[in-house]
Amino acid sequence: MDFQFTPEQEALRKEFDDFFREEMKNAPPEWGASIEAIYGNDTCWEFHKQMAKKLGAKGWLSRPWPKEYGGQDAPLIEQFIFGEVMGYHRGAGVDPLGVGVLAPSLLVSGNDEQKREHLPPMARGERFWCQCWSEPNAGSDLASLTTRAVRDGDDYIINGQKIWTTGAHRADWCNMLARTNPEEKRSRGLSFFLVDMKTPGITVRPVPIMEGSRMFNEVFFDDVRVPARNRVGEENQGWLASQMTSNFERSMIMVFSVCKRELEELVEFCKETKWGGEPLARNPLIRDRLAQLAIEIDTGRAFAYSVVWNQIKGGLITAGPLAAAAKVLATELLQRLTYTGCEIMGLYGQVKESRWAPLQGKFEKNYQLCIGLNMGGGTSEIMRNLISSLGLGLPRSW
Ligand SMILES: Cc1cc2nc3c(=O)[nH]c(=O)nc-3n(C[C@H](O)[C@H](O)[C@H](O)COP(=O)(O)OP(=O)(O)OC[C@H]3O[C@@H](n4cnc5c(N)ncnc54)[C@H](O)[C@@H]3O)c2cc1C
Repeated sequence: MDFQFTPEQEALRKEFDDFFREEMKNAPPEWGASIEAIYGNDTCWEFHKQMAKKLGAKGWLSRPWPKEYGGQDAPLIEQFIFGEVMGYHRGAGVDPLGVGVLAPSLLVSGNDEQKREHLPPMARGERFWCQCWSEPNAGSDLASLTTRAVRDGDDYIINGQKIWTTGAHRADWCNMLARTNPEEKRSRGLSFFLVDMKTPGITVRPVPIMEGSRMFNEVFFDDVRVPARNRVGEENQGWLASQMTSNFERSMIMVFSVCKRELEELVEFCKETKWGGEPLARNPLIRDRLAQLAIEIDTGRAFAYSVVWNQIKGGLITAGPLAAAAKVLATELLQRLTYTGCEIMGLYGQVKESRWAPLQGKFEKNYQLCIGLNMGGGTSEIMRNLISSLGLGLPRSW
């Protein structure tokens, strides 16, 4: 593993850093570190969209994509550097479910027409996506989903219900999984579709979360007519298409970077805040907790480097168990950091939207949100199943 970056990569890092340092000064006060910041309110959403356009104009949303679809054929490591810098600044403008998740699948499994239609608007920061996969009875066991798509001439007619659809109320399009073969109960009967959210028959309803911002939705499909040309991959082969994210950077470096920034702010808080006449930073128990977190963050960052290194060398399939380990490590670390911050702040750690709220209530907010991070995109338990079976070669337990 080589930790050295080339002078060109260092220059690129500085360019990213200068950009986010300057632009994030304009972020609304409610802008936070996690995904809810994007969708939570109109001001944040407008800011996110403006930032997406700016990133698009610089070509930074699509650097690793082929040139013909709006990319620059840039190496994966540059996407990693971008993620690291952006995470540190809690940057806005990258559509996590479009640029982040759908584009890599489309690059592998989409046909030329689909790539030409959807990738350039994403690269310009103009088209936003949501992901309609989970259902009330199909989360971890996604392959058991029951939303139906029935072929009718040149179209499919889709009926069913999705849930936990992040940002469906903001998205222009969704990518979704539906069952095209009812005889086949598992993944072999599923197809993958791209659906315009303005299509008649789609209803989006909010699902409130305890933190208060609007992020989740239920999405109902009632006789929604979708052109067959919007099916990605072959009929009944949708599972494969949905899992194809081969050039997607999967190290979780962004979350480790968020942790680094949050720890820096917590350390400053402990230096500035007195308890019993002494700064918190002098308290041996607090020092111990902060030092432990600093160790874990640096370890996580090194681990993220090794994931991207393995991905560059062997592709995502080889690096799959490592990517799963990075997800567990990063999201559980963010939780430990948040809980530690709240404990250090004592009862003040529970105060929100008040001048008494330490660090503008950031830790209080994260306390309510961070648990979701190790569920979204596959829970920690499912990641551990993957690590044990694919990484350690243990027999599958499910
Ligand atoms: C922040 C966030 C964003 C999300 N965004 C989206 C989105 O945009 N689109 C979308 O489609 N979905 C989204 N989801 C839904 C997410 O994919 C599901 O919550 C997740 O897959 C888990 O499914 P579930 O909630 O039905 O829990 P379940 O699958 O019912 O799991 C319940 C518990 O059982 C455990 N469990 C289940 N099966 C096993 C097993 N085989 N071995 C060990 N333990 C097991 C789980 O780990 C979990 O602790 C989001 C979720 C969150 C929290």
